[in-house]
Amino acid sequence: MTDTGLFRKETRDWLEANCPETMRHPYRNEADACWGGRNCKFQSEDQKNWLKRMVARGWTVPTWPVKYGGAGLNREQAKILKEELNRIKARPPLESFGISMLGPPLLKFGTEELRQQHLPPIARGEIRWAQGYSEPNAGSDLASLQMRADDKGDHFIVNGSKVWTSYGDLGDWMFCLVRTDFAAKKHEGISFVMFDMATEGVSTRPIKLISGKSPFTETFLDNVRVEKNQVIGKINEGWTIAKYLLTHEREMIGGSGASRAGGLPVSKVAADVLGTENGILSDTVLRTDIARFEMDECCLALTMERARDEVKAGVSLGATASMFKYYGTELNKRRYELLMSIKGQDALDWEGGSNHDGFLPKSWLRSKANSIEGGTSEIQLNIVAKHLLGLPG
Ligand SMILES: Cc1cc2nc3c(=O)[nH]c(=O)nc-3n(C[C@H](O)[C@H](O)[C@H](O)COP(=O)(O)OP(=O)(O)OC[C@H]3O[C@@H](n4cnc5c(N)ncnc54)[C@H](O)[C@@H]3O)c2cc1C
Repeated sequence: MTDTGLFRKETRDWLEANCPETMRHPYRNEADACWGGRNCKFQSEDQKNWLKRMVARGWTVPTWPVKYGGAGLNREQAKILKEELNRIKARPPLESFGISMLGPPLLKFGTEELRQQHLPPIARGEIRWAQGYSEPNAGSDLASLQMRADDKGDHFIVNGSKVWTSYGDLGDWMFCLVRTDFAAKKHEGISFVMFDMATEGVSTRPIKLISGKSPFTETFLDNVRVEKNQVIGKINEGWTIAKYLLTHEREMIGGSGASRAGGLPVSKVAADVLGTENGILSDTVLRTDIARFEMDECCLALTMERARDEVKAGVSLGATASMFKYYGTELNKRRYELLMSIKGQDALDWEGGSNHDGFLPKSWLRSKANSIEGGTSEIQLNIVAKHLLGLPG
């Protein structure tokens, strides 16, 4: 057996033995996702064990080096692991902004001391991170941010507010953009800092949505002490780090278009719900829409695969992440539109029934925000036009 074949066999055997049965289903409600953190409350022993076992194996962050809590897998092995997880419909053991957003810039730009401090707790799901980028007057034009960090020698004193902080009330630490040079051009006076959200002077206020839920907060910093050893990269050069993180955030969000969020293929849902004649859906319009969607889904997945291989070969992902963000989020919206059409009136059941506590209609509405978070579709199109197509700005 080849090395790759052996790795696949070992992976399959290990997953069969270690992934609890209840973790082999797509999420049915928000609580099914495990976000870790200091105040993590596991929904079940299975959820806890699944995380524990994956952490011990280094498979919450399979490609990170072993010394930072990963498994040091190469691209090929990581792909096999992903395929084997998909094969048994395993849930991610851990959802984490630390993994998908902060990890890559820490690995690329962080000092060894910062990596040692932050990466292993991220891999183990011990610290939950929040993102402090947007401000009331700095969203699409992020570099206009005004949160000020005054230099006090070995630390900064930070004042200002952030907005739309996803799960800000549940975050343990925040990675945050602050202004450290007030005279410089707007992109040049920004620093990328990290701090414990339990530090005196940090507070959050929920932003309540029409659904009654509050997945966001406003985050206020009132004379908050942030140590200078918690800056990634150089002071005043945080924009480079911010942009690098955004490429990973955008690729991650765009990936939702190609990953089905662990759910069944749309064509399978349609066949299960509506039935088929000789394996064919009778509604020709729906059938065409689903076929078109699944071809586009496949093209996106393959294009992302190709881009990842190019990154491995040293090509920077850069503006390509914006293409994925745009296309993947639009595709994810199409997926939920189709699922809603397939389920018809039943899809509107907000509280229960076949929708598992309204998970489908809530996910459908949530998908609308995909093309806003991490930078809007218009901004991604601007970046694609300028940096990939070379059109005049
Ligand atoms: C679900 C969700 C989660 C989020 N989580 C976080 C988080 O955890 N942390 C965080 O920091 N932020 C978060 N955000 C904020 C998000 O990054 C911003 O909402 C986004 O960058 C847009 O900024 P804005 O809301 O200020 O809109 P604006 O910048 O005010 O834009 C308003 C409209 O104008 C358009 N527009 C603006 N400028 C241009 C232009 N130059 N060309 C063409 N059109 C333009 C936009 O596309 C948009 O349609 C989240 C947002 C959402 C929806």
